[in-house]
Amino acid sequence: RVPAVACRADWNTEARHVPVRRRGAHKGDCGRLLVIAGERGFGGAALLAAEAAARTGAGLVTLATRPEHVSAALSRCPSLMVHGLTHGNELDALLAKADGIVFGPGAGQGAWGQQMLQRVMAFEGPVLMDADALNMLSSRAPGKHDNWILTPHPGEAARLLGVANDRVSRDRMDAIAQLEQRYGGVVLLKGAGTLVLSGNMARPALVQGGNPGMATGGMGDVLSGIIGSLAVQGLSPSRAAVMGASLHAEAADRASLEKGFMGLLPMDLIDRLPSVLGEVE
Ligand code: AMP
Ligand code: MG
Repeated sequence: RVPAVACRADWNTEARHVPVRRRGAHKGDCGRLLVIAGERGFGGAALLAAEAAARTGAGLVTLATRPEHVSAALSRCPSLMVHGLTHGNELDALLAKADGIVFGPGAGQGAWGQQMLQRVMAFEGPVLMDADALNMLSSRAPGKHDNWILTPHPGEAARLLGVANDRVSRDRMDAIAQLEQRYGGVVLLKGAGTLVLSGNMARPALVQGGNPGMATGGMGDVLSGIIGSLAVQGLSPSRAAVMGASLHAEAADRASLEKGFMGLLPMDLIDRLPSVLGEVE
């Protein structure tokens, strides 16, 4: 199946689907997200994903990362529950309390990341796989997982498909259709004009918005946190992906009015999330 036309989406089309927070809501109603991220040297990716998730409304955000990142994470964002893990078996207790997972930002592909992947693969709730999670998956046999959301950039998509990078950029529609066929679930292909496709969508969504200021490290980690957060707040995985990409792009476009393109950083998007969401909630 090669879908020919995409259905356009942006923050204007998605904002009306933002989860409603009841007057009597408590944190347990708003979703418990577990972010597993940040091998040595990549603590920033973990922090960006976890803080973006917290700013997108998840009731409880737990970060499982390398022990060396715990104090930095707590001093930056004390509402997180931060666990320093040295071995995958320490993850089991955290998985039991999670409604959904974000796995991969800065996770590395070494023993730490592989042990985490092993356990994440068995989780039955929504799982967003990004970055090194995708790189590790690309050296395994593909399989369908309807609870997964894959968020590759073109390079990661090419590795998952075992083709050269330019094959993906030449025909993004074909690439996302192939990924969806191999993995099931939801696939989000990043880039200027992000595409989202899942088996329950008649056509892929083309998310408009965003700008070249987003071509800088850490932007994708913010997207992972946003989508993971929406997915534990009761949205379907495909809605969470389309809405999350739209919100990410909207925050980036508003932030760029002040920061421009060259000075734009992932933290600037996180800072805009409360005001973008606050207008519609
Ligand atoms: P990553 O490569 O994982 O850090 O992700 C980068 C994020 O920024 C993705 O959400 C991309 O869609 C977005 N992005 C990067 N460059 C652009 C661009 N030129 N226009 C719009 N969005 C972009
Ligand atoms: Mg990335």
